[in-house]
Amino acid sequence: MNYYSLNQQSPKVTFAEAAVRGQAPDKGLYFPENIPVLPKGFVENIRQYSKEAVGVTVMKPYVGDSIPDDVLNEIIAETINFDFPLVPISNNIGSLELFHGPTLAFKDVGARFMSRCLGYFNRHAYHHVTVLVATSGDTGGAVANGFLGVDGVDVVILYPSGKVSPIQELQLTTLGKNIRAIEVKGNFDDCQAMVKQAFMDADLNNKLSLTSANSINVARWLPQQLYYFFAYQQWQEANPPVICVPSGNFGNICAGILAHVSGLPVQHFLAACNANDVVPRYMQTQQYEPKNAIATISNAMDVGNPSNFIRILALFQQQFAHLQQVFSSVSVSDAITEHTIQQVFKQYGYTLDPHGAVGYHALATYLQQHPEQSGFILETAHPIKFPDTVEKATGQALAYPQQVQHLLQQQKQSIVMDAGFEHLKEWLMQQ
Ligand SMILES: *Cc1c(COP(=O)(O)O)cnc(C)c1O
Repeated sequence: MNYYSLNQQSPKVTFAEAAVRGQAPDKGLYFPENIPVLPKGFVENIRQYSKEAVGVTVMKPYVGDSIPDDVLNEIIAETINFDFPLVPISNNIGSLELFHGPTLAFKDVGARFMSRCLGYFNRHAYHHVTVLVATSGDTGGAVANGFLGVDGVDVVILYPSGKVSPIQELQLTTLGKNIRAIEVKGNFDDCQAMVKQAFMDADLNNKLSLTSANSINVARWLPQQLYYFFAYQQWQEANPPVICVPSGNFGNICAGILAHVSGLPVQHFLAACNANDVVPRYMQTQQYEPKNAIATISNAMDVGNPSNFIRILALFQQQFAHLQQVFSSVSVSDAITEHTIQQVFKQYGYTLDPHGAVGYHALATYLQQHPEQSGFILETAHPIKFPDTVEKATGQALAYPQQVQHLLQQQKQSIVMDAGFEHLKEWLMQQ
């Protein structure tokens, strides 16, 4: 399988090259040259497959010859070695809980797969790779954990001081080894700007092999297809599900649509957004108008220019009429999000995190208009990562899950830095 740049100005590359580069030289996103078709009988008999067998069947065509089978089997087994339960909330809405991984985030799947692929591609460690990533909270923990102890790879995470939750901060700052956390005296946009400038800086790129670990990287984006298949293994209804995905950069939902295009039965995809409504507006006007991000209580979705939306358009070959049949998108306010956490807890005893609550409201509204259908949300993070909002809405204290209890005894270690690229550059040049 080869990958081409959606900007069409760069040569085609293998999976390995696309994963190592992240973005094409023409700044386009890499996209698979063709969409594999699932083997005959696979979907019909999906319950007979183990999670690992599903993983290998789905990912093998995308990886091609870049990774030998035995290594791919091992990478997949390690990537998905936790549960992906589809839990009923109400009579027609379920929750696909994607927060049972080591950092309690769905991003664990993509980050674990990507880190192990890069570790393999860099196995002779001829040169060190430095993964640079800015986080508003969730990405950093998953990336840090995924890359912990991978030879030949250093990870530098920038996060906004005082703007991530206590658990998120401990996840970023207590790992040690090849992971370092820079605590920026500024907001997420400052962190993002510093990272973006670093990728364009000639001095830094001469000195270090910099790479990014966000969802534009095919090695992080593509394995996200897997949990849509794991959900289908657990789906009990005769009709295919409506799947609602809390969306920010649209990498997660785009992976689901890719799975569907290759043969996974899905009734409809619903992208649930917070006040950052560039895509819901696009679906109304067919005008794509990026904006500055607005801060909300579902902050992992505070994205004003979703980088993967262009991949969704590519999956539908820019045919709006076709896109509209399979995909819709809505915006949900913070007030409704809080109210949803409260109501769902009161009525069903289920605790949603703010991102899942945005999804729940969107799906419940959709199903009122399509009462013959049913579906599930992707619960993208554990509520404990957003304790203030969730505890206020439910009136209940949250318990710390076992994956994070050990963190509470640990000491944070961060490098405190003023906002501004020059500070990051000075520090990186000394490494
Ligand atoms: C990253 C993230 C999202 C958004 O996912 P995209 O793939 O960027 O659309 C949603 N919820 C949580 C909790 C996240 O961390």
